[in-house]
Amino acid sequence: MEEIKDFYIGEDGLEYCSNCHTARERILPHPIDGKPFHVHFMCECQRKAYEAEQAERANREFDEMVSRNRMVCFRTKRMYDWTFANDDGTNPASGKVKAYVDAWDEMKRSNIGLLLWGGVGSGKTYLACAVANEILNQGKKVLLRDFAEVSSISMFDMDDYVKSLDAYDLLVLDDLGAERKSEFALQNVFNVVNRRWVSGKPLIVTTNLSIKDMKELSAKEDLQYQRIYDRIFDMCTPICINGRSRRAVSSEIKKEHLKQVIQEGGMTYE
Ligand SMILES: [Zn+2]
Repeated sequence: MEEIKDFYIGEDGLEYCSNCHTARERILPHPIDGKPFHVHFMCECQRKAYEAEQAERANREFDEMVSRNRMVCFRTKRMYDWTFANDDGTNPASGKVKAYVDAWDEMKRSNIGLLLWGGVGSGKTYLACAVANEILNQGKKVLLRDFAEVSSISMFDMDDYVKSLDAYDLLVLDDLGAERKSEFALQNVFNVVNRRWVSGKPLIVTTNLSIKDMKELSAKEDLQYQRIYDRIFDMCTPICINGRSRRAVSSEIKKEHLKQVIQEGGMTYE
């Protein structure tokens, strides 16, 4: 803290700040002999500077914690930028997913998650990451992994892995349907999904499968799928994501731009 030197001695013999005119001293009885002695205190402007510095430090520590949590959450750095703020606004489901984040406290309390389903390139993973980034910004812990990875965890690590998930306020599991299909792999998937169900903490799942596919599969296929899907349907509210492929959108924007350039140049464009 910067020392503010300017002071004067007031009529009561105490030191006063020439800037804010509040005392920087008080007279207190000495704890041993009881004789009055001068004790230094912060004047108003020193106190304000001190509090501002404390607040700045707290903010800095919070930001550091958020970026550490973000590094744990995502496997790839490009996902750090997959936010609602950076969204190009072409995905019609974006508002619904944002509404989930806005009601996050209530969603968390009631253990409500999301099942983001739709075709390849529809922006499901982008929106799941946008939710993750918002919750991370609130200082909460989030983990994003995919079903292929979860289904491949060794049986020796499974117990610890499943328990470690309780530390996360939100778990996002990407790409249901891409998991390995062995009995062991599906048992892993069930263990992870079931742990969220038991711990009462929200889960977000993305998948290329349609709800109809999942219901049919769970009716006719083996019990393992049925158990996994039942838990997911119980915890996760389905939202259909049918945005166009982001790659297709960006090439269309480029085409529109070219059209405009050509037309402004007095040329025609078919
Ligand atoms: Zn002062």
